[in-house]
Amino acid sequence: MNLKDIKAIRSLFSKPLKMVIVPHKNPDGDAIGSTLGLWHYLKGLGHEATIISPNDYPKFLKWMSGNEQIINFEKDHAQSKKLIDEAAVIFTLDFNHLGRIGQMQTALEEASATFVMIDHHQNPGKYAHITYSDVNMSSTCEMVYNFIGAMGDVDKITPDIANCLYTGIMTDTGSFKFSSTTSRTHRVVADLIDKGANNTEIHNKVYDTNTPGRLHLLGCALKNMVILKQYGTAYITLTQEELDAYKYKKGDTEGFVNYGLTLEGIRFAVIFIENRDEGIIKISFRSEGDFSVNEFARAHFQGGGHTNAAGGKSELGMQETTDYFVSLLEDYKHKIKV
Ligand code: 5GP
Ligand code: MN
Repeated sequence: MNLKDIKAIRSLFSKPLKMVIVPHKNPDGDAIGSTLGLWHYLKGLGHEATIISPNDYPKFLKWMSGNEQIINFEKDHAQSKKLIDEAAVIFTLDFNHLGRIGQMQTALEEASATFVMIDHHQNPGKYAHITYSDVNMSSTCEMVYNFIGAMGDVDKITPDIANCLYTGIMTDTGSFKFSSTTSRTHRVVADLIDKGANNTEIHNKVYDTNTPGRLHLLGCALKNMVILKQYGTAYITLTQEELDAYKYKKGDTEGFVNYGLTLEGIRFAVIFIENRDEGIIKISFRSEGDFSVNEFARAHFQGGGHTNAAGGKSELGMQETTDYFVSLLEDYKHKIKV
């Protein structure tokens, strides 16, 4: 975030305004943590801010302070539209293309507000008036911390803000493990703990939430894993039938894809999850090293994300999707296995 942008935001913020904050569809810990962290900060400054999520999100993210104030666009269409139309400022967090908010895209395209993007994904779009985009950041939560810092307001970080921002940094870095974690990330996290983030409690609330159904679904996923040693690749499939058998709930498959990478010699891990309602197979890609799953997802599966973590989708059936996926690997094996 440069000085010019901060000046522009300071002058924009000089009187109380109506604001809307938007995370991406199927929001994760970073999306919910960053929107709630920013929401508390903006409210503290005296603005009338509302978070509108494109759709629902998992229960393990629903404990954060302010959660009950989040509006679900899918459920409260009319109220959402009104808030978006009346907003003077719209913050979009943890995504960089309006295509990432599903049905909400049109409402945002029709809005007359000043748009501010805060995001760490690659290839940002140009829809925002003020863009704070940095692919080297661990998380959008770390960037919200930086934004508050650039506003000269680090001292206004309350325990509520600290808890929200800690959560998103923790989930987006795989608990401070992924290569996106820098010494600065740790300094930010240390400061958040000093400001009241309850780190042990957050870990418990996010990760110690298993149900028997989820553990059995994990067992099913691991049994289904196909290991293609010659391509340094492992993939998992979960059909709608399997999800139903284990009473799948939103968020239950979080983290499953990472198991593939724990195998020796495997540097590319993928999970294919059928979604009958949407008529798609939702795909998560993870890699170790330089192989860019962002480019792979973009080129073949209508998706994108980061170098080592990306997502996409397929409109083919499960078998056709995995056949197509496997057929691509010959061309990529040198990139995967270097
Ligand atoms: P996940 O696999 O955990 O859903 O997502 C991994 C990363 O890829 C996240 O940063 C997420 O925002 C991004 N991502 C997931 N699905 C899509 C998609 O369909 N399109 C794009 N552009 N990014 C995605
Ligand atoms: Mn993120």
